[in-house]
Amino acid sequence: MPTRLAPLIRSSLLSPVGKARIALDYLLPARRDDGDESLGRFIRRRLGPEAWERLVEPLMAGIYAADGDQLSLAATFPQLRGAERQHGGLIKGVLATRGRGHAPGAAPKPAFLTPVGGLNELVSALELRIRDRGAMARTGVAATAVVASWSGYQVRLRGGEAIPASAVIAAIPAHVAADLLAGLDPALAADLAGIPHASTAIVTLAFRRDEIPHPLDGHGYVVPRVEGGPILACTWSSRKWAGRAPDGWEVVRVFLGRSGRDEVLAADDDTLIALAYREVAERIGVTATATLSRVHRWPLGMPQYVLGHPERITRIEAALRAHPGIYLAGNAYHGVGIPDCIASGERAGDAAVAHVCSEGIKSASMSLHDVSATVP
Ligand SMILES: Cc1cc2nc3c(=O)[nH]c(=O)nc-3n(C[C@H](O)[C@H](O)[C@H](O)COP(=O)(O)OP(=O)(O)OC[C@H]3O[C@@H](n4cnc5c(N)ncnc54)[C@H](O)[C@@H]3O)c2cc1C
Repeated sequence: MPTRLAPLIRSSLLSPVGKARIALDYLLPARRDDGDESLGRFIRRRLGPEAWERLVEPLMAGIYAADGDQLSLAATFPQLRGAERQHGGLIKGVLATRGRGHAPGAAPKPAFLTPVGGLNELVSALELRIRDRGAMARTGVAATAVVASWSGYQVRLRGGEAIPASAVIAAIPAHVAADLLAGLDPALAADLAGIPHASTAIVTLAFRRDEIPHPLDGHGYVVPRVEGGPILACTWSSRKWAGRAPDGWEVVRVFLGRSGRDEVLAADDDTLIALAYREVAERIGVTATATLSRVHRWPLGMPQYVLGHPERITRIEAALRAHPGIYLAGNAYHGVGIPDCIASGERAGDAAVAHVCSEGIKSASMSLHDVSATVP
């Protein structure tokens, strides 16, 4: 949501009619019906079609790679509906909450944070912590099924090995969790499999600074769906993060693929790199050949919180209660951002520890009971 009006009024992104339509939000009454609606419908209703197509949809797609007319407002941006309910509209909501969140005079928080050495540091730190505490960490081998057993559960691995477990946290994509849990609970598996996922890819290009005529101000840009192309966004990561490129060099990342345009990802790496070159030539005037180019693919990496998602998650969580000791974590349930995923992992970890402890207490009291039963 724009929090300052002057840049919005000056912006060439929207026509005068589009800007006037945004202002109408101030006067429009709040919707009374409590049911969910799509994000696209909500924004068009409050701010008009132009604000949706040129402002909100591209930003939303940069997060979810989704079709906003399918996305559940309640599952993605409940705070927008909350602002409408509480304050009567989005502009009124912004005005009411302006200035909240940081002390006057305090430096605003940076928009983006990441580990200094790259995101892989999160995974390495976790692995190190597990091993440091004397636990065994097996990596690089896929689980194929979770089945009930005398110990509670058994996690079957590709290659035939099976690990007994009192508790299992499936911190894997929902569509994989569906396969793993299918034998245990087909209805739960069907709900997990029903969460749609979009695929994306990133082409990373490195150029010398003097090969890029654009000033690379800001952090990059997002591309509206109405433009019809497969490119979702482009960021200059060397400007977003310190230490991502040596002095005098820039790293540009082009994001490809979005819900409904996944077919572009069937192309080979050379084709994706060619699309990225065309993009940076058209928008930031780069015609040089990149010194480094890399393609990273994220097949089915982005869950789509479509209409009905909150109800589906309620069903999944209810079904899990019939399988104490099984927990789910990751981006398919309560938020796709890394902080959401970490929070879901911590919740699952705490619940698993509590379960293992309570099972330990139960089995200890059961064996005491057995002993007293056998003592004459
Ligand atoms: C291109 C892109 C850019 C993004 N940018 C941002 C961003 O800027 N900020 C942000 O907050 N979020 C961002 N996200 C979202 C965020 O990165 C993801 O939602 C999050 O990393 C997902 O974490 P996860 O643990 O759920 O899944 P993953 O990180 O995918 O972890 C799932 C793990 O399960 C493993 N696995 C799969 N099958 C099996 C199996 N059978 N047995 C055992 N293991 C298995 C996989 O190997 C993988 O390690 C981005 C996502 C994408 C795709």
